[in-house]
Amino acid sequence: MMDLPGPPREIAIVGAGIAGIACALALSRELSPFVPNLNITIYERHDILSTSGGAINLTPVAQRHLAQLGVLDELDRMGSEGGAEVDAIELFSMRSGRSIGSIDFVDHNGNGFGGYKGRRVMRIILSVAMMTVVDRTPNVNIIFGKKVIGGEEISDKAIIHFSDQSEVIADLVIGCDGVHSAVRTRWVDPDSASQYTGMSFLQATIPANTLSTPPHFRSSALNVSRHGSMLTSFCDRDREQIFAAAVVQFDQADLGFHRLEPGQDWATKDRIRRDLRCEMRSRFSKSALPCIREMVETKADWMLYPVYQVRPGGRWCMNRVILLGDAAHAMPPRDESAAYALDDAILFARILARYRSEPLTEVFDAYERLRRETINRAFKESRRMWDRNRDMGFLEGRLKEWMMPFQIRSHRDERESAWEFDATKILLPTPTPSEDLVSLNSFLKEGTT
Ligand SMILES: Cc1cc2nc3c(=O)[nH]c(=O)nc-3n(C[C@H](O)[C@H](O)[C@H](O)COP(=O)(O)OP(=O)(O)OC[C@H]3O[C@@H](n4cnc5c(N)ncnc54)[C@H](O)[C@@H]3O)c2cc1C
Repeated sequence: MMDLPGPPREIAIVGAGIAGIACALALSRELSPFVPNLNITIYERHDILSTSGGAINLTPVAQRHLAQLGVLDELDRMGSEGGAEVDAIELFSMRSGRSIGSIDFVDHNGNGFGGYKGRRVMRIILSVAMMTVVDRTPNVNIIFGKKVIGGEEISDKAIIHFSDQSEVIADLVIGCDGVHSAVRTRWVDPDSASQYTGMSFLQATIPANTLSTPPHFRSSALNVSRHGSMLTSFCDRDREQIFAAAVVQFDQADLGFHRLEPGQDWATKDRIRRDLRCEMRSRFSKSALPCIREMVETKADWMLYPVYQVRPGGRWCMNRVILLGDAAHAMPPRDESAAYALDDAILFARILARYRSEPLTEVFDAYERLRRETINRAFKESRRMWDRNRDMGFLEGRLKEWMMPFQIRSHRDERESAWEFDATKILLPTPTPSEDLVSLNSFLKEGTT
């Protein structure tokens, strides 16, 4: 009897970020009806969920996909902490204090796209909501404190190596371990180290009641200047916390000197905090927006997050291992980045279910054909957007401000149609029967006639 490929039963996912957890939930839903004893295990290097990372903006697409995975209900159940609704990101000039447009998450009637608006939520809260859904999902387990350091493929299995010297054997490995992915750099594509973009986030959470100036924005604003942009957004429903994140040009040579790391002594931490406050003041203290001036004058503890990217065009898969999310295609972040990680997870799970009788290499090919071009386009667009945040001279800065309303308007249709995207609905390719299968089918047919 011929041995036909079956769907993978032991699936190992590396990384419990947005892509990893979404992928586990989507795979459980798509594969459970076809795979008895399906076992999905997520391996996460941290011992507990990481509390760093500030707040993240979820676009209508990201919210739709989180709703489909059951995560949005959990966020809503969390009350105020579940995030602030964002109708629009308003744009302001720090030079003049004037409004220069807005990116709207609602249509002319005030409705969200496909029923969803935007939401700004603390990363740790999103992770907790995702973990709550994992806890009640059959077939999915998560193991913390397991740092992957490499892997190999042997005949029809993949073996993952961990830093604690242990190993795990799986039918399929999915690398969702973020921009510095070990699955990518030590296994799938060793030549694809992440690259520093030259830009960093300087971010802090500031209690709204510590500011005497009323915020100039409704829920979220991007305040632009020729010394970088600063995002200011409420991140809880009761509008008690403001998340502030400046996107600034920051020299690679200075990064190590300005990053807070575990184990640093008090004096070093204090020096870093003072330096970063000074950096913020030097860039934004002349802003015409009083709220911004006050933010940079307060004793907020700014944290430095260097932004890395993964060069587009790199390898995404081998025979039994594939990369999803930032591990495959980290781009300079924009509001859609998390949505791409969610799209990856849902589309990959659907393709795997549809191609369940095909070899994994066919599954990977089908996935890549569907995704590569979209990701390449998104990468180019986010690079273009980020270049606008580097330091510039007076005239260039004025030109940037002047052009912005046109750019926002000219991309509106494209943006809004992207927000209607539903990864659970788009048509998938159909597997073409392999020659072996065709001959097996004709053999069976002949046998029955
Ligand atoms: C400063 C900043 C701000 C951003 N803001 C936004 C925003 O507002 N909106 C938006 O949509 N996107 C934003 N993004 C982008 C967004 O965060 C990412 O696109 C998204 O988190 C990608 O999810 P992921 O699961 O692929 O990777 P990650 O979220 O990075 O998750 C990777 C996981 O893998 C784990 N891991 C790493 N290495 C290993 C290993 N060797 N072994 C085991 N586990 C490992 C990590 O601990 C982590 O849990 C931002 C990014 C940055 C850097």
